[in-house]
Amino acid sequence: MSQHAFSQLPLKPELLRNLESLEYHQMTPIQQDSLPVILSGRDLIAQGKTGSGKTAAFGLGLLQALDNSRFHVQSLVLCPTRELADQVAQEVRRLARQIPNVKVLTLCGGMPLGPQIGSLEHGAHVVVGTPGRIEEHLRKGTLRLNRLQTLVLDEADRMLEMGFQEAVDTIVAATPDTRQTLLFSATYPQEIAGIAGRIMRTPERVVVEALH
Ligand code: ADP
Ligand code: MG
Repeated sequence: MSQHAFSQLPLKPELLRNLESLEYHQMTPIQQDSLPVILSGRDLIAQGKTGSGKTAAFGLGLLQALDNSRFHVQSLVLCPTRELADQVAQEVRRLARQIPNVKVLTLCGGMPLGPQIGSLEHGAHVVVGTPGRIEEHLRKGTLRLNRLQTLVLDEADRMLEMGFQEAVDTIVAATPDTRQTLLFSATYPQEIAGIAGRIMRTPERVVVEALH
């Protein structure tokens, strides 16, 4: 067994089997450094360039923690754009293929609200969305995050650049303090340090390739 095999991690057998079928044989460097922290339940700030495999790092973490017998929103992934949210949802669904009945829902702006509200009434385990629309659902009372386990801020630097800081703060305030918070970013500007200080508990920091 290789040093960087996923099978050395404490992952559910369904996840390990599925990684084999996806031909993910080796962890990427950011997965090697971040998955042990994520699986230990600690908060994490991870910095790595595009294409380094950050989605599977947090996707495996949230799927490992997921209890598919309990049908409420257990994980929320915030993304800066609809395109990124769709890509993340697609990758999380691929990673979840061998776990029965995992419901992954995308909630993004620019899409009609009605069908989203209908889907939320049916329930979901994992929600992936953009901050503005998630905030809107919270305000309407159509989304509840009071039993959230894992909050992921993906491409956090871009989300802040796009002016989503207040929406992110409002969303965080609707989640339990006991949640695990995972923040992924290509860069680490001052604003990220600021938000991390406000919403994370003694996060571990992983930097795989310094870009700046
Ligand atoms: P990032 O979010 O860091 O930019 P992605 O999570 O989108 O990167 O991953 C980039 C590509 O690498 C995706 O196509 C994904 O399916 C693939 N990938 C991720 N992890 C692995 C792995 N361990 N082995 C093989 N392919 C992987
Ligand atoms: Mg990404």
